[in-house]
Amino acid sequence: MRLVILGGGESGVGTAILGKKKGYEVFVSDFGKIKENYKEVLIINGIAWEEEKHTEDLILNADVVMKSPGIPDKSPIVKLLLKKGISVISEIEFAAPFTDATIIGITGSNGKTTTTMLTHHLLKSAGLNVGLGGNIGKSFAWQIADNKYDSYVLELSSFQLDGIVNFKPQIAIITNISPDHLDRYDYKYENYIDSKFRITMNQTEDDYLIYDADDEAMNDWFKTHTTKAKLIPFSLTKTFSEGAYLKNNKMEIKINQEEFTMDTEHIALEGKHNMKNAMAATSVAKLMQIRKATIRESLSNFQGVEHRLEKVLKIQNVQYINDSKATNVNATFFALDSMNTPTVWIVGGVDKGNDYNELMSLVREKVKAIICLGVDNKKIIDVFGNVVDMMIEVDNMSDAVRMAQRLSEKGDAVLLSPACASFDLFENYEDRGKQFKQAVKNL
Ligand code: ADP
Repeated sequence: MRLVILGGGESGVGTAILGKKKGYEVFVSDFGKIKENYKEVLIINGIAWEEEKHTEDLILNADVVMKSPGIPDKSPIVKLLLKKGISVISEIEFAAPFTDATIIGITGSNGKTTTTMLTHHLLKSAGLNVGLGGNIGKSFAWQIADNKYDSYVLELSSFQLDGIVNFKPQIAIITNISPDHLDRYDYKYENYIDSKFRITMNQTEDDYLIYDADDEAMNDWFKTHTTKAKLIPFSLTKTFSEGAYLKNNKMEIKINQEEFTMDTEHIALEGKHNMKNAMAATSVAKLMQIRKATIRESLSNFQGVEHRLEKVLKIQNVQYINDSKATNVNATFFALDSMNTPTVWIVGGVDKGNDYNELMSLVREKVKAIICLGVDNKKIIDVFGNVVDMMIEVDNMSDAVRMAQRLSEKGDAVLLSPACASFDLFENYEDRGKQFKQAVKNL
């Protein structure tokens, strides 16, 4: 069997290692450059590869093709493969048949990483032999080749889900859905929604789907579609006979006739959105029969994830918060919503079609000054120019932070939550967040 892998990054190389181990004839082809460390791995393992080209003769003779998530279906080589009827799948589809571990798959527009990390923390603290993968850290395929975990918590993007045929998680979470990446979905929101719901398409009556029952897009989907999985809803506003919800400042979870409650004030993650993430992760822990005391302890000591509402430093009683990962309006909405002091807000970057009006009431209520940090800030200025007292434009992070310090007073917060991608001024959101933290430390 010839396995051709398009893309020589983390998931491509991981799939190559697994494929080789399972006896496939493996070839890796990357249209860009392959990183040195990955090249070394391919060479050491005797895996054939090419970079900066796709040689059709070496690709179109594949029995199966694994396409890395970054490569769009529209790329010429993928089109050719599909035209020839060759199966093009994603890493999780290729890798899953080689393990009988329990798989917990987590998707959604926002909150995937936080929920994945928290779920992993809950299970690992309980002593389970559990792996963490998907879009985080080491690829799923690579781990299956190297390790033997009894269960995996996987962060799954819609691109990973687009390439599945038979893959199913025993437990699925959809954290929420709001418009994102529409360029890859013919600018049709319904296509993107359907893509997220692929996570449940192969689930059976023995499986579970945990989902946000406050989410309009999901509730609409359920009106016209079904899943065989058992549903576990979570909500900040409704209560359920089975599901997760809030009652008298407590998080309550009822699953399989068992109940779990915890004072919300003891949950380390802050903000309403994180309460939802905690509900979803705790539902998994309950399904995996983790002891209540262990769940409580883990929820109270989970430190959160870098660049997601990360508290950096308090300087002259001003709290600096790094939410660089907020690359869309929905994420920033929850960041602003969780602020309980006057806020100097650093916003801007590459806008993926944002409707800033969704933030209007929160900005009126909480934001005292806006610092625009982008190459083109016109839209932000047009929407909020008359709403806040102070608004300025900067074109680098150290100016942004210095201006924020000048505009803030004791008791305020400075929040970097850009609602935009970072590519105009930074390498990526991590670079943006790191520069922010460094600039704060330099104050
Ligand atoms: P993802 O992996 O889906 O991008 P992250 O956990 O990395 O999600 O969080 C991305 C951004 O969204 C951060 O700014 C974070 O504060 C915010 N966020 C986290 N959870 C949620 C949620 N449930 N709903 C909305 N925004 C969220």
